[in-house]
Amino acid sequence: MRIDLHTHSLASDGTDTPADLVRAANVAGLDVVALTDHDAMSGWDEAAQAADEVGITLVPGLEISTKYDHRGVHLLAYLPDPTHPSLVAALDRILAGRTARTPAIVDALRRHGIAITEDDVRREAGGSVAAGRPHVADALVRLGVATDRTQAFTDLLSPGGPGYADRYAAPLEEMIPIVTDAGGVTVIAHPWGRNGRVVLDVDALAHLKDLGLAGIEVDHQDHSPADRSELRGIAADLDLVVTGSSDHHGLGKVDHDLGVHTTDPEQYERLVSLASSA
Ligand SMILES: [Zn+2]
Ligand SMILES: [Zn+2]
Repeated sequence: MRIDLHTHSLASDGTDTPADLVRAANVAGLDVVALTDHDAMSGWDEAAQAADEVGITLVPGLEISTKYDHRGVHLLAYLPDPTHPSLVAALDRILAGRTARTPAIVDALRRHGIAITEDDVRREAGGSVAAGRPHVADALVRLGVATDRTQAFTDLLSPGGPGYADRYAAPLEEMIPIVTDAGGVTVIAHPWGRNGRVVLDVDALAHLKDLGLAGIEVDHQDHSPADRSELRGIAADLDLVVTGSSDHHGLGKVDHDLGVHTTDPEQYERLVSLASSA
């Protein structure tokens, strides 16, 4: 059984519709795929219908923008009740912050001498409810300012760059219990990507587990083989579920093909059982 628990569609910053993503997962030989758009659950229905049609299992999820110790942390949430009031309120607040951020980024880039407009970004965002930096990056590529998303981020959009603007993210220590209350389970995405080990050390992970954290994503392209074996050891010590996933973004991110990393079926079963027992 091949299981990929982290993918993005057009509902956030992927390039496939939710249905196309599920069909691609089937073609890639996956039996289980989770749709985890950034701060958005709007792709679930379409993805679920496509999963029924092709005969694979869809795990409805999302990747929530949180903050811990002043750093951004991505929190994967699986199988929460999408109508749970505290979850809905938290996501609304994140989305409002994201929406307010784009004009700030566009202003900063214009001050830097780049003739980009909010319309340019809106065109790239299409039907996404979570217009954000990846769409600004796409607009910069279309305008010929950057060669690809990666370069746009490296040169302009990352912290310290001329086009960076901060935005609201939910406190991680509040978000984990909210997802649990909503009947879901939480897994920290790529905990040691982008130098995350500075804040997400073993003590922090033990503390987060006490708050209800179910697992950590270990097998991810942002982790070196050494990171992975160290994280696997920590997960074993703390009795955290270990996942592996592609973080697929369609054409929006290279080297993240569907199924490039997968989750062990036993670990997947553990996650699902934690969700249904909540
Ligand atoms: Zn992420
Ligand atoms: Zn992701």
